[in-house]
Amino acid sequence: MQKNNTVANNKPARIGKGNGCPHYKKCGGCHLQNMTYEEQLKFKQIKCIKLLGKFGRVKEIIGMENPTHYRCKVQAAFSKNKTGIISGIYQSSTHKIVPIDTCLIEDSTADEIIVTIRKLLKSFKLKPFDENQMTGFLRHVLIRKGYYTGQIMVVLVTGSSLFPKSRSFINALIERHPEITTVVQNINNKFTSLVLGDRNITLYGDGYIEDTIFNYVFRISPRSFYQVNPVMTTVLYGKAIEYMELSGNETVIDAYCGTGTIGILASGGAKKVIGVELNADAVRDAKFNAKRNDIKNIEFYTADASDFMVEMAKAGQTADVVIMDPPRAGSDERFMSSVVTLGPKKVVYVSCNPETLARDLNYFIKNRYKVKRIQPVDMFPHTNHVETVALLVRKINGE
Ligand code: SAH
Repeated sequence: MQKNNTVANNKPARIGKGNGCPHYKKCGGCHLQNMTYEEQLKFKQIKCIKLLGKFGRVKEIIGMENPTHYRCKVQAAFSKNKTGIISGIYQSSTHKIVPIDTCLIEDSTADEIIVTIRKLLKSFKLKPFDENQMTGFLRHVLIRKGYYTGQIMVVLVTGSSLFPKSRSFINALIERHPEITTVVQNINNKFTSLVLGDRNITLYGDGYIEDTIFNYVFRISPRSFYQVNPVMTTVLYGKAIEYMELSGNETVIDAYCGTGTIGILASGGAKKVIGVELNADAVRDAKFNAKRNDIKNIEFYTADASDFMVEMAKAGQTADVVIMDPPRAGSDERFMSSVVTLGPKKVVYVSCNPETLARDLNYFIKNRYKVKRIQPVDMFPHTNHVETVALLVRKINGE
């Protein structure tokens, strides 16, 4: 790595060599904890250079200044063992719960609330859910925190709608944690490994929280997709917006738009934004978010991004900028060939998997585009995941 480059304005903290987390070996969630944070960044940088270096210079990965307790979405499973009620994390690739009270990457307040809930269960004589017998009360707790607003949502996932003494339970919880802004009971009565069921009952507050990215407000409901590391999300999205270089006249397509975050951030600098996303619930949230921010120049469509782009290309429509943020599997040739037909000047590719990014960049460079920037961002310290923003520009004739 080069010296003097960005680690969110400061030197990275030295964490690792097994001294970061007592649960490291049992839990298996953080793959890179045997390394210091500097080593982790180097490891990710080398991985990106190996996969992406052939397309151009890979900028130095942007790391976190404080790479701990960054997860603002925290889930705990509840069960019972010889010692009593336990709460914790499923061991990587198994259904065994590793009992934990604190986690190096989870928000600390969320962890404290989970411990309080475990203690309250005992004093209220409520039982954890037994998945084999399908009896008992509490299955999971999900906590979501708005990093910038400080709002906290507690979701109690229960095996049925019965919640004995719910009012006094909630009162006791709020008394111990007045920072909680809403409590929701989610009912999951199915034999499933999914955490959330279909039904929500708001027990306290609004039933959702809000958080901000730059000056925009986003609603987070129990089910909404929202990036889990808000600090690095602003870095990642900030890069994506910077690479678009909007002047106010552009038509921007936000493909794989989720709840519309990137498109909404781009809308202030563009003439028009069109968002496309497969998940209808996410599109509903995206439309809501656009209204919440009083944005009029954005439209969202529920569709397969490739089908949508093929239709746009067939209809002879144009776009100046395409921003794409596909899942780990990356995009496909139908999508990319339609992008090439639409011929935007810029394509900004936000990727959570450098392997599929490499495959997809290869397609673009063979089809009229060149790679101008490659910027890795460490959204998930201590795990082996790495996000990358790449800027592609259309070649001018003869280039
Ligand atoms: N840009 C958003 C979401 C990125 S996650 C954000 O930053 O919040 C990737 C998104 O792609 C998910 O919301 C997923 O539902 C969506 N997706 C997956 N396959 C898709 C497809 N074939 N067409 C459109 N959207 C798809």
